[in-house]
Amino acid sequence: MKYVLVTGGVVSGLGKGVTASSIGVLLKACGLRVTSIKIDPYLNTDAGTMSPFEHGEVFVLDDGGEVDLDLGNYERFLDIKLTRDNNITTGKIYQHVIAKERKGDYLGKTVQVVPHVTDAIQDWIERVAVIPVDGEEGPADVCVIELGGTIGDIESAPFIEALGQFSYRVGPGNFCLVHVSLVPVLNVVGEQKTKPTQHSVKGLRGLGLTPDILACRSTKPLEDNVKEKLAQFCHVPLQYIFTLYDVPNIWHIPLLLKDQKAHLAISKVLNLASILNEPSLGEWTSRAELCDNLHVPVRIAVVGKYTGLSDAYLSVLKALLHASVACRKKLVVDWVPACDLEKETEKENPDAYKAAWKLLKGVDGVLVPGGFGDRGVEGKILAAKYARENKIPFLGICLGMQIAVIEFARSVLSLHDANSTEFTPETKHPCIIFMPEGSRTHMGGTMRLGSRKSFFNVKDSKSAKLYGNKSFVDERHRHRYEVNPDMVERLEKAGLSFAAKDETGKRMEIIELPNHPFFIGAQFHPEFKSRPGKASPLFLGLIAASCGELDTVLNPASAHQHLISNGPKNVYVNGTPKKSPNSLADVRYNNGYCNGLYTR
Ligand code: GLN
Repeated sequence: MKYVLVTGGVVSGLGKGVTASSIGVLLKACGLRVTSIKIDPYLNTDAGTMSPFEHGEVFVLDDGGEVDLDLGNYERFLDIKLTRDNNITTGKIYQHVIAKERKGDYLGKTVQVVPHVTDAIQDWIERVAVIPVDGEEGPADVCVIELGGTIGDIESAPFIEALGQFSYRVGPGNFCLVHVSLVPVLNVVGEQKTKPTQHSVKGLRGLGLTPDILACRSTKPLEDNVKEKLAQFCHVPLQYIFTLYDVPNIWHIPLLLKDQKAHLAISKVLNLASILNEPSLGEWTSRAELCDNLHVPVRIAVVGKYTGLSDAYLSVLKALLHASVACRKKLVVDWVPACDLEKETEKENPDAYKAAWKLLKGVDGVLVPGGFGDRGVEGKILAAKYARENKIPFLGICLGMQIAVIEFARSVLSLHDANSTEFTPETKHPCIIFMPEGSRTHMGGTMRLGSRKSFFNVKDSKSAKLYGNKSFVDERHRHRYEVNPDMVERLEKAGLSFAAKDETGKRMEIIELPNHPFFIGAQFHPEFKSRPGKASPLFLGLIAASCGELDTVLNPASAHQHLISNGPKNVYVNGTPKKSPNSLADVRYNNGYCNGLYTR
């Protein structure tokens, strides 16, 4: 196993996660199998309890792990499925060490940060690095480890010490340290300044880690003399210094690294020269370029609670982007604060109320994402009502599906006080209720988390078609509340279709309104499994419906007809023209997978 450690210096928010994922993409494109580990030096055992306001979304894995959003980046970029143990936190490590101490495993020794905590970190890395994450058997070739935070943070000290020791444990030729740093430009003189990078490299060395490669964030490519200065002062060879300058979209980052031959530098440090092929990034290149050249907009309202911080809905945003690219449309997201749609706001802040409704009324499609707590719920219900009544394409995710059911019960069944017991425990018409898989009396550990199967049971439903008419799908969950099984029959009779349920038939997984152009809700979170080039089917449906092309996705036959009348286009696979027609139908045929096909 070879290890690439990615650290960050100077400031946080440099895009260390994207850089680490991009290094993974580059190595994968050279034919290597890649896995990854994210280290978060905070004390929380996992991200499950952290507010999206503060920390961005909580990403959910197949095994139910609630982890840092960077793991989402790894999964999307590398098309892998990670485990909860791929996210190491200080909380997890200390919990592990303290549990061992209580068991008496340290045989009377004084338990200390060095060596006990540092050993636990190293053992954890070695254990997790060999878990296969790409569907193949046996361990990957390379493990990319990203150390969260910035060099010099107090809380990351035990990890730095452990990683310093680890570089000796695995030996030379097996460990490559990439330090991501910032080269700012001072406006007055317009000069690229190297001092912050010099300082952070000095800090790194002082802590016992030696950088092999520098990846410098800057607005423009580094000037030659700036690189020379960095090489001289940081003791890193010139050909091992790369610039990650600003690019129009993050899919360009692996290409930037490739163009600067970062793969050759990494392969030299890791003694990989013999197995390294020229990276094949044809599909990435096409997609990055395609994304830059999309002009026809598709406008989607995201009606949520955390609209001030787009990271709070990162995977939703990425899934919308994947679907828009598949439909060759430029994604425009209008963030609508759910509270602002409510009557209360009309009184208290009429301008915000007007602005929110104006935004909502100007979009092609509406998405209500997941959420917890009652703030903004009434606004979300109003958004679902607006989409249902005006035949605007609608996708509700988790809470977004629950509020759509509440809205339907209120408006169509005239159950005006219908609600979720999460918000009104004493409601007379509880259409959403607490349905834990385990204990009904204890909240802790009662969330339904991770991958669960949903079985399609309505023939010809849009969702089943979008998922390629499979009998079931495996999507990720994170919720406690669900549609009340006792109300299903009434809702069904009034026209709400439950297109998919769990294996017991008691948990409603997908709702649809058959007489609406596109109105779908899912109890699961399809966004977590969306990938560039493999858009999530429900997102693809929303975007296609929003640009009036749903038929093309749902009925491949008519799509081919459409193509014949418009003439076939040239399709490129990794840069080579292919004869087969390229259409949205192909996207669905491949279950949302574009196979790198893009019309030029
Ligand atoms: N709060 C709701 C529940 O617990 C929805 C959760 C979500 O949207 N992730 O069921």
